[in-house]
Amino acid sequence: MTKTKKLVIALGLIAAVAAAAVMLIPQVEFIVGGGLVNIGYRLQDRLGKYDLQHDESISPSEIWEGLMAQNDLAADVRDVFPRTVRHPVVVILACMDARIDTSELVGDTRRYYYVVRTAGSVLAPAEQEMLELAVLNGVKVVVLTSHSDCAAEAAASKPESREKFPALTELMDERVHHVEEFLARPVIREAMEKGELEVKFARIDTDSDRLVVGDIEATFPTPSVSNEPHVGH
Ligand SMILES: [Zn+2]
Repeated sequence: MTKTKKLVIALGLIAAVAAAAVMLIPQVEFIVGGGLVNIGYRLQDRLGKYDLQHDESISPSEIWEGLMAQNDLAADVRDVFPRTVRHPVVVILACMDARIDTSELVGDTRRYYYVVRTAGSVLAPAEQEMLELAVLNGVKVVVLTSHSDCAAEAAASKPESREKFPALTELMDERVHHVEEFLARPVIREAMEKGELEVKFARIDTDSDRLVVGDIEATFPTPSVSNEPHVGH
């Protein structure tokens, strides 16, 4: 047998073992899937100038056309590969900040997660009801998050933006109170007492996506109003 032939057989065996490991060991399949998703994200990350570029010349209608073209393509792919329906077991409250991607946050694209998003993760009564609806629909863990470098937190700490966004900044001032209000809702309190539900608090490191678990006050700092200029997103 020639050296080349031996090498081809060895590589073939390695590929077969790797393919079997991916197909037969769920943890390996999950991690390889996550790796491939990440490759996709990183490839698209590089394409800043491709379509929806951040300059003054692009018009709203061009952006809308771009969005629809991408949706056409995505829906065509979805037609070929229908989604597996999962029952969510977690609901995450997160800021609307575009840098936060909840699938990336949990390294999982299987949709076990309901997501409620508001600027600054504010939790007005309507959002409290949304979380409760998720709990009544079988969710067992509620994760209430905030994140570093949050524009809504910055807005709540500047007098001029407080004037511009009075409703939002008032909700920012009341974040801790609204979380306590949510925890006191009978459905939530009873589910926690029975051990059927856990509510967790975590601040997302916006750069690394790491969840820093803390208490309510650490996760939702009360805005301190200052006149210092702030550069936010
Ligand atoms: Zn934010």
